[in-house]
Amino acid sequence: MSLTTRTSGAGRGSSLRRRFLRKSTALFLFVAFCAFAFAQEPSSPSADAVSKITANILHEGKAYEYDEHLADDIGPRLTGSANYEKAVEWSMEQFRRLGLENVHAESFPLKAVWEPETNAIGRMIAPHEQTLHLISLGWAPSTPEGGIRGKVELIRNLLTPDSLEQDRERIRGNIALVDRSSLSFPNGLMPGQYFAALSALKQYGAVAVLVGGGRSPNDAEYAGAATADGSIAALPIVRVGFEDLQLLSRLLKKGSVTIEFSYRNRIRKPASANNVVAEIRGREHPEEFVLVGAHLDSVHAGTGAQDNGTGVASLLDTARAIRASGIVPRRTIRFVLFGGEEEWELGSKAYASQHEAELDRCTAMLTTDTGSDTTFGWYINGREDEVAALQEMAPLLKPLGADGISQDATFLLHSDHTSFYLHGVPTLMLWTEMAKYFQFVHQPGDTFDKVDKDKLAKSVAVVAATAFLIADRPAPFAKRQSPAEVEETLKKIKQYDGYLDMKQYGTLK
Ligand SMILES: [Zn+2]
Repeated sequence: MSLTTRTSGAGRGSSLRRRFLRKSTALFLFVAFCAFAFAQEPSSPSADAVSKITANILHEGKAYEYDEHLADDIGPRLTGSANYEKAVEWSMEQFRRLGLENVHAESFPLKAVWEPETNAIGRMIAPHEQTLHLISLGWAPSTPEGGIRGKVELIRNLLTPDSLEQDRERIRGNIALVDRSSLSFPNGLMPGQYFAALSALKQYGAVAVLVGGGRSPNDAEYAGAATADGSIAALPIVRVGFEDLQLLSRLLKKGSVTIEFSYRNRIRKPASANNVVAEIRGREHPEEFVLVGAHLDSVHAGTGAQDNGTGVASLLDTARAIRASGIVPRRTIRFVLFGGEEEWELGSKAYASQHEAELDRCTAMLTTDTGSDTTFGWYINGREDEVAALQEMAPLLKPLGADGISQDATFLLHSDHTSFYLHGVPTLMLWTEMAKYFQFVHQPGDTFDKVDKDKLAKSVAVVAATAFLIADRPAPFAKRQSPAEVEETLKKIKQYDGYLDMKQYGTLK
């Protein structure tokens, strides 16, 4: 029985104690096993350092506390918002306190800062009255004073502005409903093209857009920004709850449906936000660096405890443990906390282009943005040339259960490593179990209570060990690819169409 379903006080206490004992015994055995496994390796300065650093993280790690502060004390961190800037100040203060060098903020431009001012409220008026579960998409404009009232019309093919032609008469003056049946992308949804088609609904005279999605029971899942470049969308766009959508679809088959809704969002433009940078300078080649990234921003539903509070906490605790070891790696480890990730990686795109001139000296970019559940290893996204170096490190990652190398490239274009990858920099994305993450991500449930302290500590140990080993190895981790090689790899891993989509509709330069 899980603790959350237990109600009796006494039972709960003893269950907690049993769980604590089980967990501490498991942790003790795990640490002992690590010490044993590391001891079996031919001892090298790097292996000894990693053993010291990971033991510190597993015994005295602070990632759980860092994440608690971000999620509970600061809260949702929409890029450029007051909470976000509070997180910028707080994380710089932590890095300084840990004795890191070169701690500073770097500004990047934003087309707009967006925050919800009121929740969306709405109801169906005809064929009968009924409350609807709605939430505004990010970077969508407010509804006009007095709200929006209109007939709902299902869009039959939202592929390109031309594909809307068949629905021209139905769209004018009405609320366009976009559900799964409206989407016919041949190679999976292309976000840039999708947003461009959504915005074309305005030219066809739609007054607002209703997007289906979410989960039972009537969750209207927040799905990030409604544009691919940080601009404000052309029309008010709301997401409708799961069961509400099914109801509207059934009723539309029988006749006409009218709804009304309203919400207000606060928009400030143009604007800017900050990425946060901190370094542990290398002892032999301080000009060469391993970049370790996570995103400081979150969406507004939930408090971003897993997406990406645990990532930020991992970076802070990696910095803490390496500093505490007193060991300095050959190359610099540069920590960067990015903003704007939830608006399609605006902060990391800006950072990669602002720092293009020094990317030849970036031996690897590591990102952690998949939560902190059981960690298996790293995604290499088709960079087979990284395998040899990772295999060398495997004996040190194996005791953490994280010597795996995944060929799955699904997330390549969806986090802060993307821009570095496209600039040819060798990248790694943390590979973790994600079932629980997907249950709560971008929803009100992405909160601190879902974070498992021991699993988080292990995932921090994987990030720290990998970053240190790459920074400390005599030879560079892998080479920088030419633009032609990047394109070739993208084609091989079937991500080329997504890349072209980003290039055409997003902010990719
Ligand atoms: Zn994220």
